[in-house]
Order: sequence, then C-alpha cells, then structure tokens
Amino acid sequence: MTWLRAAALAAAAALLGGCQTVPGGGRSQLILVDDDALAREAGEAFAQMPRARDEAALARIRAVARKVIAAARTCPKYGDPSLPPPERWEIVLVDDPTPNAFAMPGGRIGVHRGMLPFLPTDGDLATVLSHEVAHVACRHGAERVSQGLLAALGAVAVDQAMADKPASRRQEALALYGAAATLGVILPYSRDHESEADRLGMAYMARAGYDPTAAIAFWRRFAASKEGGAPEFLSTHPSDKTRVRGLEAMLPEALAIRNEAQRASTPPTGASR
Ligand SMILES: [Zn+2]
Repeated sequence: MTWLRAAALAAAAALLGGCQTVPGGGRSQLILVDDDALAREAGEAFAQMPRARDEAALARIRAVARKVIAAARTCPKYGDPSLPPPERWEIVLVDDPTPNAFAMPGGRIGVHRGMLPFLPTDGDLATVLSHEVAHVACRHGAERVSQGLLAALGAVAVDQAMADKPASRRQEALALYGAAATLGVILPYSRDHESEADRLGMAYMARAGYDPTAAIAFWRRFAASKEGGAPEFLSTHPSDKTRVRGLEAMLPEALAIRNEAQRASTPPTGASR
C-alpha cells in the first residue's frame, strides 16, 4: 500500500472536502482528496512495478477482470457506473513472489505472480478481482488517504498545544496521539473497508456469472495458508470467522443477483417448458 502514501502527499495539495456514500446505500464517508490526483499518483507507482512474462496467465486474468469490471458498473444496488469501462483498465501480472493483488483508482489492476498458486479456478480469480474492484468502487483508497491526512493534521495540533512543555513530554504526547489515531481511527476503518469490499465483491462476481459460494471457499482456503507466515494481503483483513460470517450473510442476495443476471442473459426460446 505504499502507493497510497505517495498519493497522500500529492493529493493533499488538491485538498477538497466532501461527504460521500458507499455504493449500496452503505455508510457515509469523508473524502478529502481529489480523485484525479490520487489516480495520477497511483498510475506513476503502477508504471514502475516490474511485469512478469506469462502471457497465458495474463490473458486469463484480463478475461475474468473485464467481466468483473463490467458487472461492477452495472450491478443492481451495488454497482458504480462511474468506474471506467473494462477496455480502459490496465491489467497486469506483477513480477512479485508475495501473494497479493490490488486495484487502483483510475482503472488499474495488478496481480502478483505469487498470488497465482491460490487461484486455480476462474471463480477464485473472480473472488479476488471483484474484492479489489469493490475497494475502488467504494473509494477506500481516497478515504484512507483522507484519514491519514486528518491524523497528520491532528498531530500538528497536539504538537502546537504542547509547545511550551518540555520536549520529552511533547514526544510522549505525540507518540500517544499517533498510537490512538492509528488504532482508534485507521485500523477499525480498514476492517470496515475489507468487509465492504467482501460484500460488494461478492455481488459483482455474482453479477458477472460466477458462483458466489466460491468466495467463501477461497477465503477459507487462503486464510488457512497464512499459518506459515501472514502474506501482506491479509494483514488488515478481518478475522477469518468475521469474514466468513459476513460472506455467508451476503450469499442469499448474491445468489439472487446471479439468478437475475442469468435470466437476463438467457435469450427466450419460446418453446420448451
Ligand atoms: Zn481488501
């Protein structure tokens, strides 16, 4: 997530205020950064990532990603029509052995080659890509950067308030403030983000025609694999039980979305029954 840190600096220059709502009528969120600035910074970080040469894997990722993106734009209730159309997204396989995947504002997706062993089926791939595209639809990157900016502004205020106190006291207060801001604001929000991305992602993959039960199986399997050292991808993700419970709660709605999408795409035959 280091591209977010770089993005924060540039985006701060284009500070805008705004309250938004997460797609699907979810919670409202405070966005303090300009989307275009964020997308530009993300694009620069993206351009510098090393590409892996595996044309077959890349073709598969692109095919599934395009279906998922189309679904994310048109999904009833949870869709975000402002996402760029599928053909405008840059989709790459990153030459990095760590199991990770990401999507960036402005239409960019990266899958690390180290993620491929966890994605034997297209349902697995759709699970991961839908989850990442949902982070973009929910503007979680912009929200995280905004939270970081607020925390930084708060730290400046603490420093000023303590200006006449001895330096050691100021250091102590700042350290405490930093810990509180991180634990109290940034971490819980991040878990919310993950749960939101899980729910919307499940709706998107269902809309794209994939079986949403694959998401539950995937996250169970992926969580079990972290025993031998947690991959970065999981570091802010909710506890496995919370995650699976959230996915199971979303499943009936996702199945209904999938049925509806299949009805709509089946041409009427007019005959049998
Ligand atoms: Zn996530």
